[in-house]
Amino acid sequence: MRPFVFINSAMSADGKISTILRKQVRISGQNDLRRVDTLRAHSDAVMVGIGTILADNPKLTVKSEALTTMRTQQGKPSDPLRVVVDSNARTPLNASVLGARALIAVSQKAPQQTVQTLSKKAEVFVAGEDVVDLVALLSNLKQRGVESLMVEGGARLNFALLDLGLVDEIYTYVGNIVIGGNNAPTLVDGAGFIANFLMLDLRGLSRMDDGFLVRWRVKGRT
Ligand code: NAP
Repeated sequence: MRPFVFINSAMSADGKISTILRKQVRISGQNDLRRVDTLRAHSDAVMVGIGTILADNPKLTVKSEALTTMRTQQGKPSDPLRVVVDSNARTPLNASVLGARALIAVSQKAPQQTVQTLSKKAEVFVAGEDVVDLVALLSNLKQRGVESLMVEGGARLNFALLDLGLVDEIYTYVGNIVIGGNNAPTLVDGAGFIANFLMLDLRGLSRMDDGFLVRWRVKGRT
């Protein structure tokens, strides 16, 4: 058992989600940023990989006051549970994501001392020997009442989840810029598929800001 899982990402016209410097770049406009905030506000949890924490240091909170008020009026905490997938407990102790309702998922390989220090700043969940066991993590999230999980990257976590068949939908905002670069991250990196590609079903396509938004349902491997 697992929550409903969707990936949300912004990419350039050439499929890059960042530059070769792997730092956050502005790809979308105001309307898309509001859309992302709304998706977050309607999710029970949001998740990123440690690569995204180290690159962008996101807080992953809901930005709009109206949306946080909506959540509290519904009896929910003002922000969704914020989950970091971090096998080696590399989350910096001053990372913006740390604090109440932050969950750092680590593997058994993570140094014990680091895990102990980290657990003073966030809840730590251990799953998997060398890398975080994503199936166990999602099952745990479901058990604690997470029905909808928004994955906000990055490229390697996206692949791992798609490869394991753990994603239901993908929203991609495609911006009107070209980034290029052999080593710039794309929407999905990791080992990649060489056959039996993952098939998608087009569910929505709309113009937004100076680019477009596409919504896919994941059908599975061929
Ligand atoms: P990432 O996907 O955020 O994190 C990948 C890391 O997660 C892995 O290296 C691995 O590190 C850890 N991990 C733990 N368990 C894992 C598992 N079971 N499977 C896979 N990974 C696991 O990092 P990234 O691929 O480097 O992407 C970061 C880049 O994406 C940055 O440049 C960021 O700016 C960009 N980004 C863009 C957007 C956008 O919408 N445009 C959104 C998010 C991020 P350990 O082995 O140490 O655990």
